[in-house]
Amino acid sequence: MANSKYEYVKREFEFDRSLPASNWIVVRIDGCHFHRFSEIHDFEKPNDESALRLMNACATSMLEKFRDMVFAYGVSDEYSFFFREGTEFYQRRESKILSLCVSFFTSVYVMKWKDFFPSKELKEPPYFDGRVVCYPNLKTIRDYMAWRQVDCHTNNQYNTCFWMLVKSGRTEKEAQQTLKGTFSKDKNELLLQQFQINYDDEPAIFRKGSCVYRAKVETKVKSDDHGNPITRTQSVTTVANIDIIGPQFWETHQDILHEVGTEKCKYELVKKFDTIHRLPRCNWTIVRINACQFDQFSLIHTLDKPNDETALRLMNASASLVMEWFPDIIFGYGFNNEYSFVFQEKTELYQRQESLILSSCLTYFTSVYVTMWKEFFPKKELLQLPHFEAEILCYPKPKIICDYLSWRQAECHRTNQYNTCFWMLVKSGKDKSEAHEILKGTLSKDKNELLFQRFQMNYNNEPAMFRKGSCAYRQKVEEFTKVGDSENVTRERWDMTVAHVDMKPGFWRKHPYIFNQCHSV
Ligand code: ATP
Ligand code: ATP
Ligand code: MG
Ligand code: MG
Repeated sequence: MANSKYEYVKREFEFDRSLPASNWIVVRIDGCHFHRFSEIHDFEKPNDESALRLMNACATSMLEKFRDMVFAYGVSDEYSFFFREGTEFYQRRESKILSLCVSFFTSVYVMKWKDFFPSKELKEPPYFDGRVVCYPNLKTIRDYMAWRQVDCHTNNQYNTCFWMLVKSGRTEKEAQQTLKGTFSKDKNELLLQQFQINYDDEPAIFRKGSCVYRAKVETKVKSDDHGNPITRTQSVTTVANIDIIGPQFWETHQDILHEVGTEKCKYELVKKFDTIHRLPRCNWTIVRINACQFDQFSLIHTLDKPNDETALRLMNASASLVMEWFPDIIFGYGFNNEYSFVFQEKTELYQRQESLILSSCLTYFTSVYVTMWKEFFPKKELLQLPHFEAEILCYPKPKIICDYLSWRQAECHRTNQYNTCFWMLVKSGKDKSEAHEILKGTLSKDKNELLFQRFQMNYNNEPAMFRKGSCAYRQKVEEFTKVGDSENVTRERWDMTVAHVDMKPGFWRKHPYIFNQCHSV
């Protein structure tokens, strides 16, 4: 397929780091603003068991979905996922691994919400940030786990005291004051003296967090001729609330990490492995989201071919909500099953930390997509979880952003024209390989000709949404003057608009405020 002249924007600017070989890959995700999320959903304090079980169910689905994930450890609104040392999952490409994990997790979280909270509506879309850290050997990976579990212990012990004090009538300030500077044993003492609580009797899910792994289980499959049982070892995804700091668990589950380290842990060191990548300054950033295995997804949900208008409108609605939530996104462009979001040059979202921007934007999109599905497809049950991958791109000038967008629009045109021909041929009785054969090597004008000759169809009369994709941006809808006491104030209202138009220079000249400056493109 001939490359368009815009294609250089991919070749020269895209980057996708490969993670170093022979390292365990850890993806740690953490709920965004879960302090607030837990409040508006009335989570019990300090620990809502249903919320924890929902997190565990999501982690279980993760291990069932991704075979190279060997272990997961979770506490509160965070979960760490461990890929085996030698994994070749997506050739160890960082943004692929990160985006698939956070997006799939979020999808399951939204889908399973009602199983754990049957009488609570999801009032806001949950979303997660995520990062990837590599650990080169058993010692550091074990130290990482110990670090998280010690953190769980410290936080939970503090929170248990804090909420007992608050529930007994103390103000939050007083409770903080009481706990300031106390050691672990002081807190245990306080619980015992004031509330007759033995901290060690608290549920293990609160004290130890949750581990998810595949356990080998012997099951009887049948009996032989003499009545002796024939067993088979099966691996069963298991959740356990146990100690992973000491050697015991690892000695009885040697297959998870293959070897067991014996040196004593120094888990303070592990934080040094966490490398933060920030987006380069003075660059416009694009997050491009793309549904995975959508061919299969569209088949299962019987989406119309070549274009399902409702599916496209759901993409647009999800994109609009993303842009309302992240005001730094100045423009969105989508077609098919992908969407690109352009962040303004000076964004300080997450202090420009790449993986946090990528994952929060992606999971917010995933969340609203899953949530709004039934609104758009009231008669179609969501049979398979949609999940998306995302990548991030940086361009130093608006001109190149415009070229990027033109490249995507050229791609929209190319694939849509091809698919329109392909499906017309298939619907007229050709089989799929025949249809591909007919279209092989044809130019754009040949395809228009084919549509016209065989099907009396003028390609240019096809709906603009299919041919041009969708542009999402803010537009000033009204300007009104409020009469005040001393002076009149002029107010503006900006609403999200979705338009199906060419992103040629004329469009940018008509909407100079999108890039917040007049520029020639
Ligand atoms: P950020 O977006 O920076 O992660 P956050 O509000 O999510 O901010 P965290 O440090 O991640 O802050 O803390 C998670 C918060 O979510 C805690 O304050 C805790 O109260 C709440 N939370 C998470 N899970 C539960 C749960 N199972 N039960 C009760 N509260 C929970
Ligand atoms: P990958 O996991 O590599 O992204 P994919 O199956 O998602 O694989 P794409 O190249 O993204 O591959 O192809 C998406 C497919 O989904 C297209 O072939 C098209 O048939 C279908 N599709 C996408 N959007 C729609 C839509 N709105 N309506 C109908 N079908 C669609
Ligand atoms: Mg959080
Ligand atoms: Mg957290």
